[in-house]
Amino acid sequence: MIESKVIKSDVHLPFMLAGNALFKVYSSRTNTSVIYQITSSKDTDLWFVSVQYEYNNTADVFNTIKFAYIGTITGRLNFKHTKGSKVASTSKTFKGFAWLWECVTSNKLPDFIHISHMTRCAKCGRRLKTPESIARGFGPSCWKSVSKKVKDLTTKLKEA
Ligand SMILES: [Zn+2]
Repeated sequence: MIESKVIKSDVHLPFMLAGNALFKVYSSRTNTSVIYQITSSKDTDLWFVSVQYEYNNTADVFNTIKFAYIGTITGRLNFKHTKGSKVASTSKTFKGFAWLWECVTSNKLPDFIHISHMTRCAKCGRRLKTPESIARGFGPSCWKSVSKKVKDLTTKLKEA
Protein backbone atom coordinates (compact mmCIF):
# COMPACT_ATOMS: atom_id res chain seq x y z
CA MET A 1 0.00 0.00 0.00
CA ILE A 2 1.07 3.56 -0.66
CA GLU A 3 1.61 5.55 2.51
CA SER A 4 -0.65 8.54 2.91
CA LYS A 5 -1.39 11.18 5.50
CA VAL A 6 -4.49 13.36 5.89
CA ILE A 7 -3.95 17.04 5.02
CA LYS A 8 -5.53 19.64 7.31
CA SER A 9 -8.31 21.56 5.57
CA ASP A 10 -6.63 24.97 5.91
CA VAL A 11 -3.70 23.61 3.91
CA HIS A 12 -5.76 22.01 1.11
CA LEU A 13 -5.49 24.91 -1.30
CA PRO A 14 -1.83 25.81 -0.75
CA PHE A 15 -1.00 22.12 -0.92
CA MET A 16 -2.83 21.59 -4.22
CA LEU A 17 -1.32 24.67 -5.83
CA ALA A 18 2.24 24.21 -4.57
CA GLY A 19 3.55 22.90 -7.90
CA ASN A 20 4.06 19.18 -7.38
CA ALA A 21 1.00 18.11 -5.47
CA LEU A 22 0.17 14.44 -5.29
CA PHE A 23 -2.83 13.55 -3.17
CA LYS A 24 -5.49 10.98 -2.56
CA VAL A 25 -9.15 11.85 -2.19
CA TYR A 26 -11.10 9.29 -0.27
CA SER A 27 -14.85 9.26 0.18
CA SER A 28 -16.02 7.39 3.26
CA ARG A 29 -19.54 7.53 1.81
CA THR A 30 -18.72 5.50 -1.29
CA ASN A 31 -15.55 3.90 0.06
CA THR A 32 -13.63 4.86 -3.07
CA SER A 33 -10.45 6.84 -3.60
CA VAL A 34 -8.86 8.71 -6.46
CA ILE A 35 -5.31 9.98 -6.74
CA TYR A 36 -4.68 13.35 -8.34
CA GLN A 37 -1.58 15.20 -9.37
CA ILE A 38 -1.48 18.97 -9.84
CA THR A 39 1.61 20.52 -11.36
CA SER A 40 2.21 24.18 -12.13
CA SER A 41 3.47 26.06 -15.13
CA LYS A 42 6.83 27.73 -14.60
CA ASP A 43 6.01 31.07 -16.21
CA THR A 44 2.39 31.82 -15.50
CA ASP A 45 -0.31 31.11 -12.95
CA LEU A 46 -1.58 27.91 -14.51
CA TRP A 47 -1.95 24.47 -13.00
CA PHE A 48 -2.42 21.14 -14.74
CA VAL A 49 -4.62 18.52 -13.15
CA SER A 50 -4.10 14.84 -13.80
CA VAL A 51 -5.88 11.81 -12.47
CA GLN A 52 -4.51 8.38 -11.80
CA TYR A 53 -5.91 6.12 -14.49
CA GLU A 54 -4.44 2.78 -13.63
CA TYR A 55 -5.51 1.71 -10.25
CA ASN A 56 -4.51 -1.52 -8.67
CA ASN A 57 -3.61 -2.45 -5.15
CA THR A 58 -0.26 -3.84 -6.15
CA ALA A 59 0.88 -0.40 -7.30
CA ASP A 60 2.90 0.09 -4.17
CA VAL A 61 5.67 2.09 -5.76
CA PHE A 62 5.24 5.83 -6.36
CA ASN A 63 6.66 5.69 -9.87
CA THR A 64 4.23 3.05 -11.05
CA ILE A 65 1.26 5.42 -10.78
CA LYS A 66 0.17 6.54 -14.24
CA PHE A 67 -1.69 9.80 -14.74
CA ALA A 68 -3.90 11.29 -17.42
CA TYR A 69 -4.28 15.05 -17.86
CA ILE A 70 -7.88 16.17 -17.34
CA GLY A 71 -7.89 19.98 -17.16
CA THR A 72 -6.32 23.29 -16.20
CA ILE A 73 -6.71 25.58 -13.23
CA THR A 74 -6.45 29.19 -14.34
CA GLY A 75 -4.91 32.17 -12.55
CA ARG A 76 -8.38 33.05 -11.30
CA LEU A 77 -8.55 29.57 -9.84
CA ASN A 78 -11.19 28.24 -12.22
CA PHE A 79 -10.93 24.61 -13.29
CA LYS A 80 -11.38 24.22 -17.04
CA HIS A 81 -11.60 21.53 -19.68
CA THR A 82 -9.09 22.10 -22.49
CA LYS A 83 -8.25 20.62 -25.90
CA GLY A 84 -5.65 18.38 -24.34
CA SER A 85 -7.95 16.89 -21.72
CA LYS A 86 -7.92 13.10 -21.96
CA VAL A 87 -11.46 12.78 -20.64
CA ALA A 88 -14.71 14.41 -21.78
CA SER A 89 -16.05 17.40 -19.87
CA THR A 90 -19.19 15.32 -19.30
CA SER A 91 -17.27 12.38 -17.82
CA LYS A 92 -17.51 11.34 -14.21
CA THR A 93 -13.75 11.84 -13.89
CA PHE A 94 -13.85 15.45 -15.03
CA LYS A 95 -16.97 16.30 -13.05
CA GLY A 96 -15.53 14.61 -10.00
CA PHE A 97 -12.56 16.92 -9.85
CA ALA A 98 -14.66 19.97 -10.78
CA TRP A 99 -16.87 19.21 -7.80
CA LEU A 100 -13.91 18.67 -5.48
CA TRP A 101 -12.31 21.91 -6.66
CA GLU A 102 -15.51 23.84 -6.05
CA CYS A 103 -15.70 22.41 -2.51
CA VAL A 104 -12.07 23.21 -1.73
CA THR A 105 -12.09 26.75 -3.12
CA SER A 106 -15.37 27.62 -1.40
CA ASN A 107 -14.18 25.96 1.80
CA LYS A 108 -17.20 23.66 1.84
CA LEU A 109 -15.67 20.22 1.70
CA PRO A 110 -18.09 17.61 3.12
CA ASP A 111 -16.96 15.61 6.14
CA PHE A 112 -16.99 12.34 4.22
CA ILE A 113 -14.21 13.51 1.91
CA HIS A 114 -10.68 12.99 3.19
CA ILE A 115 -7.67 14.39 1.38
CA SER A 116 -4.26 12.87 2.06
CA HIS A 117 -0.80 13.42 0.70
CA MET A 118 1.52 10.57 -0.21
CA THR A 119 4.43 11.63 2.02
CA ARG A 120 5.89 13.75 -0.78
CA CYS A 121 6.45 17.50 -0.48
CA ALA A 122 3.73 19.37 -2.44
CA LYS A 123 6.27 21.83 -3.79
CA CYS A 124 9.45 19.92 -4.66
CA GLY A 125 8.08 16.37 -4.65
CA ARG A 126 10.79 15.03 -2.36
CA ARG A 127 9.95 12.47 0.28
CA LEU A 128 9.02 14.03 3.63
CA LYS A 129 11.12 12.86 6.53
CA THR A 130 10.28 14.48 9.85
CA PRO A 131 6.91 14.10 11.62
CA GLU A 132 6.46 17.89 11.37
CA SER A 133 6.94 17.89 7.60
CA ILE A 134 4.68 14.89 7.19
CA ALA A 135 1.97 16.58 9.26
CA ARG A 136 1.89 19.65 7.00
CA GLY A 137 2.77 18.09 3.64
CA PHE A 138 5.78 20.31 2.97
CA GLY A 139 9.49 20.16 3.72
CA PRO A 140 10.87 22.99 5.93
CA SER A 141 12.23 25.32 3.22
CA CYS A 142 9.28 24.79 0.88
CA TRP A 143 6.88 25.54 3.74
CA LYS A 144 8.60 28.91 4.30
CA SER A 145 8.13 30.01 0.71
CA VAL A 146 4.56 28.72 0.68
CA SER A 147 3.29 30.87 3.53
CA LYS A 148 3.47 34.00 1.34
CA LYS A 149 1.69 32.20 -1.48
CA VAL A 150 -1.07 31.22 0.93
CA LYS A 151 -1.79 34.88 1.65
CA ASP A 152 -1.86 35.70 -2.09
CA LEU A 153 -4.26 32.85 -2.77
CA THR A 154 -6.60 33.88 0.01
CA THR A 155 -6.70 37.40 -1.41
CA LYS A 156 -7.35 36.02 -4.89
CA LEU A 157 -10.30 33.95 -3.71
CA LYS A 158 -11.83 36.92 -1.94
CA GLU A 159 -11.57 38.97 -5.14
CA ALA A 160 -13.09 36.25 -7.32
ZN1 LIG B 1 9.83 20.56 -0.74
